[in-house]
Parts: sequence; structure tokens; C-alpha cells
Amino acid sequence: MPWQLEAWRQLNARRAALPHALLIQGRPGLGKTHLARAFAQSVLCERPREAYAACGACAACGWFEQGNHPDYRQLQPEALDEGARDESASGEGSAASRQIRIDQVRELQPFLRIGTHRGGLRIALIRPAEAMNVATANALLKSLEEPPEGTLLLLVSSDPQRLLPTVRSRCQAVTVAPPDAASAAAWLRTQGIADPEGAASFAANAPLAALEQAGFAEARRTLTDLLAEPDLDPVRGAEKLLGQPVNEVVIWFQKWIYDLLRMRWGALPRYHPGASTRLARLAGRLDPIDLTRVARKVAEARGLAQHPLNPKLLLEDLLIQYRDLAGGRDV
Ligand SMILES: [Zn+2]
Repeated sequence: MPWQLEAWRQLNARRAALPHALLIQGRPGLGKTHLARAFAQSVLCERPREAYAACGACAACGWFEQGNHPDYRQLQPEALDEGARDESASGEGSAASRQIRIDQVRELQPFLRIGTHRGGLRIALIRPAEAMNVATANALLKSLEEPPEGTLLLLVSSDPQRLLPTVRSRCQAVTVAPPDAASAAAWLRTQGIADPEGAASFAANAPLAALEQAGFAEARRTLTDLLAEPDLDPVRGAEKLLGQPVNEVVIWFQKWIYDLLRMRWGALPRYHPGASTRLARLAGRLDPIDLTRVARKVAEARGLAQHPLNPKLLLEDLLIQYRDLAGGRDV
């Protein structure tokens, strides 16, 4: 993808003296796993083309694409497996783990010890690396400290600060940077997104995040209309939002509050440039200290929204706090 070219160049620059562990880092929605997989495939490819691109036709590429290359493993939380139940979306069923389990790392050990099947490298991709808790990360640490010959560990992380320092320090980091606003919008336009500029801003120029959010454009508008209403009714408001994934709604809420705060301090909105008039009207009437307090409440709700006991109550509570912000606002 166009914004990954610099990171791709940096990865390729390391080929001559490939380290044992690479950390591909950057904000969510930039396609880091896609890039890591492309790199892994190109390293395993047995007839690479120019500029190291995988050929897509050799036996190794065939296995890789079908997910059964003998020298490749991918570790990720069960919740990310295809067909896994995602409790945050459905609110029912047994929850698949959002953590990489220690067993998954232990099961990697025999793979790392035995010789490779195709005489090249063996590669393990771990994503997102921050989904390893301390015990799991420590189990991996041994492989990072004394990696068996011919091993490449590819860690992918949107939140490298959450990795154990001992893990981070043993990886060479390559950062995927987001494109600028115009390039992000241009790419989104090629994907057929309506209002590509607005979509890019809302996702802070992370193109894949914007693409993922495209289906929510209508629901997001419902929320922002609600939040701009002078006589907001929290109970009815929460009902209107109930069909949407709560964790998403809380993030949209958070972005709205963030933009209100920005406007209050005289900056331009970051996520809702198209709503600056409405935001300015609201922000002018709000007390910045109260606004900061609600911002903190919304941030706390983000943690709860992954497993909401009662989604409607959670939303109602946020809307009540938000409505009370305005105090004397014709309520
Ligand atoms: Zn190939």
C-alpha cells in the first residue's frame, strides 16, 4: 500500500544482515500485519522478483498463501481468528481470548528448534505483540535472547509502549507512518468511499481504519446529531444508539469530546472538520474543567465498553454526564 513504501524500503535494507527479531510498529489502521506478512512471504519465496517482491507462483508462495508453509507460524489472539466469536460485537456466546496465550508461545518452541523444511529461514509472526501478558512475553523472551540459527521473529504492534522493555530492546523497530491527509483521502477515493476527506480526518489519516469505519458513517452521524441537540434526551438517545457496537460508539463519543476541548482552547477540530460551526457553538458555552471531567469519564468507559454488562446503561450514563455539562443549557 502506498503509505507503506518507506517501511518496506527499511525492511528490505535489513535483508543483508537480517536481525533475529523485527518489530513493525505504528498506529492502528495502517496495515502493519499485511506488511509483515508480505515481508515474510518475500523472505520465504523461492523465486523472488525484482525489489524482493514475492513471486506468488513458487511452491513456497503457494503454501504461504494457503496458510500452511512449514517454516512459517502466525501467533495471534483467538479473537482474531477467522470465525471467532467476538463478544464485543455480538454480546453473546463464549468469548474468544483477546490475549495471546502462553501455550501458544510454548507451542512455538519445537518449531523454532527443529531444522527448517525448505533450507531458508523459519519465521514466526506475532500480532499484536502487546496481546502478550507478562508471563507470555517472558516465555517468548528466551527465544529473543538466544534465537536458534535461521530464525526471524516478526512482532507487530500498535502500542509498543505496552511491550516489556526487555522484549522491545531485543527487536529492531521499523515504523509504519500514516500518509498525510491528502494522500489518505486520495487512496480512500480509489476505494469508493463517499466523503473521503471526512473519513480520513475521522480516522486521523489511517486509511484502513477509515475504510473499516465507512460502514458506520450513518451511525456516527446519529451520535453527533444527538450530541449537538440542545435538548438531548439521554434515555431516548441511548436507545437510538443501541444497535451499534458499544465500544465503537464510546470511541466516537471520545473523539467528539476531544474536538470540543480543542475548540474550547482555540484549536481546530481534528476528527470533525466538517462540524466546526456546531462544535464552536457548543464549546463556547462549556466549562473546560467540566469538559475535561467528562472526557475522563468517557476514557474510563472505553475500558468497560469491551465487556459492557448493560450497554444501554453505559450509554445513558455518558449521555447524562454530557447533558449535565451544559448545566443551564435550556434543559
Ligand atoms: Zn514465490
